Amino acid sequence: MTTDCSPVDSPAFLKQVIDSLTEHIVVIRNDGGIVFVNRPWVDFCCQNEGPELTSWAEVNYLDVCRQATEAGEDFGLQALEGIKKVIDGKKELFYLEYPCHSPSQLRWFMMRVTPLHLRETSLYVISHQNITERKLAEEEVRKRTRLDGLTGIANRRHLDEFLQGEWRRAVRHEQPVTLAMFDIDHFKMFNDTYGHQAGDDCLIQVARVLNQFSQRPEDLCARYGGEEFVLVFGNTDQKQALPLVAKAMDAVRALGIPNEKAPTQPTLTISVGLATVTPDRERAASDLVGEADRLLYQAKEQGRNRIVYRHQGQLASLT
Ligand code: GH3
Ligand code: MG
Ligand code: MG
Repeated sequence: MTTDCSPVDSPAFLKQVIDSLTEHIVVIRNDGGIVFVNRPWVDFCCQNEGPELTSWAEVNYLDVCRQATEAGEDFGLQALEGIKKVIDGKKELFYLEYPCHSPSQLRWFMMRVTPLHLRETSLYVISHQNITERKLAEEEVRKRTRLDGLTGIANRRHLDEFLQGEWRRAVRHEQPVTLAMFDIDHFKMFNDTYGHQAGDDCLIQVARVLNQFSQRPEDLCARYGGEEFVLVFGNTDQKQALPLVAKAMDAVRALGIPNEKAPTQPTLTISVGLATVTPDRERAASDLVGEADRLLYQAKEQGRNRIVYRHQGQLASLT
C-alpha cells in the first residue's frame, strides 16, 4: 500500500523520471500536434538550433516529417507512413533507424512510436534513442568484411559490389569502365623457393603498390584471388588506362623482389589483361571481368611479364 506522501506517486517524481531518461520523448495528437516533450528532447533540440521550449505546442511533428520528405530524405517518408499506421491502429509499434548527422558528428537514431490511449483521447509516444555507437561498430564490422585479411586492400566481395555500382553508373551516363586483371608470374615457384611466409610478404608488397593506382572514388584495387589482383577504373577508357596500368606493372617490377628460379625472369613480374567496355543494358559487369581474364590468359601464353589488350579488335601487347 502506498501513502499520499510517497514521493513515487507525485507527478513531479514521474516527470523527473521521464526527464532523466536518455531517450528524447515527444507525445503527439493524431493530427501531429505536439502535446509534450521531455527535457532531453528540449536539450537536444537546443543544441541543434530547434525551437525554444515554449514554442513546442506550435510544432507539428508530422509536418516536420513531411518537410524532411520534401527535402529528399527517404526516412522522412518512412517515418510519416509508419507513424500514420500507428495512428490508424494498423500497428501497435513502429520503429525506424535513421541518420541525423550534425556538421561535426555522425549520428544515428532509433525512433519508436507507440499509442497511448487515455480515456477519450488517443495520443502517440515517440521516443528517439541515440544508436550511434552501435551503428559505428556495425560500420566497422562491415568495412572489415570487405577487406582482404592478408593485404588489407578490398576483397572480392567489395570488388563485386563496387563493380556493380560503377556498372550501373556507366550504363546511366554511357561511360566506359576499364578493368585490369593482374596475376603474379610463377608465384608457385616463388613459394617453393622462398617459402609461404615470404610469399605472403610478397603479396602484401604487390597489393600496396597496385593500391596506389586507385586514386579516385571511381577506382578500386582489390585482391581477386590468391595471387590475382584487379584494378577498376570507372569512367575511364582504354587509352587513359593503358599508361596507368603500364606504370603499375613497372612499379611491381621495380620492387626488385627476386624470383630466381622462375623460367622467364629472375625477378618478380606480373601479367595483365586489360579490358574496357562501355556498358549497356544487354551486358553484365561479369562480361568485363571475363574479357580481362581471357586477355590475361593471352599475356601468360605470350610469355608473361606484359599487358595484353585489344586495339581495333586485334590483340596487342605492351611489355
Ligand atoms: P603463372 O605464371 O601461370 O601465373 O604461374 P603461377 O605459379 O603464378 O600460378 P599457379 O596458379 O600455378 O600458382 C599460384 C600460386 O599462388 C599457388 C599458390 O600456392 C600461391 N598462392 C595463392 N594464394 C596465396 C597466399 O595467400 N599466400 C601465398 N604465399 N601463396 C599463395
Ligand atoms: Mg593465378
Ligand atoms: Mg600466377
